[in-house]
Parts: sequence; structure tokens; C-alpha cells
Amino acid sequence: MSKEKYIGVKFNVVFAGYFRPSDKEKELIKEMIQAGKATGKMGMKDKNGGNISYRTKDGIIIKRTGAHPDSLKVSDFVLVTKADKDTVWVKGNFEPSSEARLHYFVYQSRPDIKCIFHAHDFAVLNSQLRFPEVKYLKPYSYGTMESARAVARAGKNHNYIVQSNHGVIALAKSVKAALKIISRYHEKHQAAN
Ligand SMILES: [Zn+2]
Repeated sequence: MSKEKYIGVKFNVVFAGYFRPSDKEKELIKEMIQAGKATGKMGMKDKNGGNISYRTKDGIIIKRTGAHPDSLKVSDFVLVTKADKDTVWVKGNFEPSSEARLHYFVYQSRPDIKCIFHAHDFAVLNSQLRFPEVKYLKPYSYGTMESARAVARAGKNHNYIVQSNHGVIALAKSVKAALKIISRYHEKHQAAN
């Protein structure tokens, strides 16, 4: 949707070691892979896709950059252990999603949630429908601190946020619940379009 060209991550990356997910973490990753496939089935298959993450006691398990949510493998996930406005620390072999800072700062402002799911849902973006419980943000350049701050602020009071010209973000306590939010709004908009 965004007319902006994808140019990779907009922060420094510090590689801080290996990421070897435990069995429990592998299960969580598989849940995220399934959720990504589910959005693919809903038609969200644009080139840059979206991203998904889950917070554990060690950090944030997040999709690597350049992998599409519709076709992920367990090895496409890395662990973000820390972030500041310029730098993201990661365990694993790949750079994290270009939206890693956004995920990090949203988790900071919402201690109660465990999963963040960002999708490029054109049914929502192309719709004129507005829901009172949804936060609609103005356009921001992807992967910037401005965008991360705006979403973290909005996320304090909203579990579903629409980023104009870009995508949608669901905040939830589980992968299943995040997918449910994405699906619910997708269906509402599709029905109306
Ligand atoms: Zn995006």
C-alpha cells in the first residue's frame, strides 16, 4: 500500500549471539507462522508483507527482515533483546524486522500484551469505514522512531491501530487473539466494501 520503497532496516543492528528457541518457543513460532499463513489466505500477500512478534522473558521473538508472513520458517525468527532509538540488539543470524523498534516500544508501553501482529490489510486501508474503538494514525515513514512512538502512544488505549497508507496493528495476549483481531476487522471491512 505504502508508496514508499522498502530500503531495509533504519537502525543499527548489534548481533549479540545465537538464538536457539526452546521447545516452547518453537511452538510459539509455529503459531506465528500459522497466523501469517492465515493472513495470506485473506489476501494479504503484498511484497513487503507485515510482521509478527511474541514477548518472552528473554526478549521479543520476531520475524527477520525480508521474510514474508505468508511463507515463514522457524529459522526466519530472531530474538530482540534490547532497543533504543538508534540501535537494536538481536540474537540470531538475521537482521530483525524493519519494524523491530516499533514492536519493542509498544511492548514497553503495554506490559499486559504478549503478541503484536502487523499486517498490510488493503480491505481496511482502502475503506472509508471508521470504528470508534480503533485508533487511526496519520501516515509515517515505515520503521522510523516517529512511527514507533506514535504507535506506542496509541497502543496504550487501543488494541487495533490503523496506519494510513501502510497497514494495521493488533495487540493481544496471545498469537491466536491477535490473529482474531486482524481477521475480525478484515471481515467487517470486506463485508462493507
Ligand atoms: Zn508494514
